[in-house]
Amino acid sequence: MHVAADYGPYEKDRDDRVEKALADDDVALVRTGSSYAVAPGRVTKDDGSPYRVFTPFYRAWQQHGWRAPAPGVRSVPWIRADVRTKQIPDVDPPEGVTLPPLGEDAARRRWREYLDQVDEYDDLRDLPGRDATSRMSVHLKWGTIHPRTMLADLADRGSKGAEAYARELAFREFYADVVHHRPDTLAGYYDKRFEAMDYDEPGEDLQAWKDGRTGFPIVDAGMRQLLAEGWMHNRVRMIVASFLVKDLHLEWTVGADHFLDLLVDADPPSNQHGWQWVAGCGTDASPYFRIFNPTSQGKKFDPDGTYVRRWVPELRDVPKTFVHEPWKLDEPPADYPAPIVDHAEEREESLRRYAALRS
Ligand SMILES: Cc1cc2nc3c(=O)[nH]c(=O)nc-3n(C[C@H](O)[C@H](O)[C@H](O)COP(=O)(O)OP(=O)(O)OC[C@H]3O[C@@H](n4cnc5c(N)ncnc54)[C@H](O)[C@@H]3O)c2cc1C
Repeated sequence: MHVAADYGPYEKDRDDRVEKALADDDVALVRTGSSYAVAPGRVTKDDGSPYRVFTPFYRAWQQHGWRAPAPGVRSVPWIRADVRTKQIPDVDPPEGVTLPPLGEDAARRRWREYLDQVDEYDDLRDLPGRDATSRMSVHLKWGTIHPRTMLADLADRGSKGAEAYARELAFREFYADVVHHRPDTLAGYYDKRFEAMDYDEPGEDLQAWKDGRTGFPIVDAGMRQLLAEGWMHNRVRMIVASFLVKDLHLEWTVGADHFLDLLVDADPPSNQHGWQWVAGCGTDASPYFRIFNPTSQGKKFDPDGTYVRRWVPELRDVPKTFVHEPWKLDEPPADYPAPIVDHAEEREESLRRYAALRS
């Protein structure tokens, strides 16, 4: 039996158990390739140690290179008829949830369609109102497209946008590599010093965050997109994560667990390390004291409020000037909550806790 090798601690253990079970029937489990362009563990420094910082990893990853994608297969005659006819069961999503089309055909279709847009990726990818990212994460997660297929098309394209896109694919590979060397960081802190930080216990604020009712429009739009689509734009993932850690003072693991529960692209290495990066305790982490202001982030990356209006119907008629700070209106929309925290105060509180950790 042939499978693509999997690298997470749970996945490795699962495959070992399958291997043992198959051996009882004299069937070998053959792990071939991986779901990465370069398998985790392959890119190392000259002394054989792993990279801890993305940019040098990225250079070494490019130098290492990868094989061209395998040529397409027209038919697989050895598939047994009873196996071929078994379909993935249709599952009805919960009420109000829209799931993306899945499967290999859907992945290729989406990728071909997106390639026409990729040249603009670098300029537009941070604007959640523009839908300028590929949404290929779900297909990469479920293995219905291989990154080598994508990297070959990107190299043919050769644009600045295509290069920027390939760099993001390298982030996925970097985090898989980090977890390969430090499996403990899926559940625990990469920078252990942060274990000792003073955190709050989750309470009502956490529920308001999950429900998209914090009173900060960009945070609420992101959390409602997550509820409705099982996906959220990358810039907004960073904003909502920062809000949970630095405005609500909760541990990153609380938010990361919620993301893993709801994301259709839930990928433990990218998720846990995306969270740790925001929380300041991950690999080349954004310094802890760089605290996102949800209002100015909203104004900068969703300048006309397109994204907020799409996901927060209570704010649909609010003029552009107030869409990221509706509390400044003479009459704020009655059905939209007032901010659950004062960002300026919580920022100071976060810095105080950080200073205490360092003293
Ligand atoms: C707090 C947080 C949690 C995250 N959780 C996940 C997760 O569970 N699964 C996941 O796939 N990504 C995660 N990411 C990374 C990123 O947000 C998503 O990969 C991206 O939003 C997926 O949308 P896309 O396919 O349109 O991305 P595009 O912008 O089109 O990027 C192309 C591909 O590059 C990869 N990529 C892009 N950005 C990153 C990144 N920062 N880290 C790792 N890979 C990246 C993804 O495979 C993505 O599909 C997380 C980021 C943060 C800040």
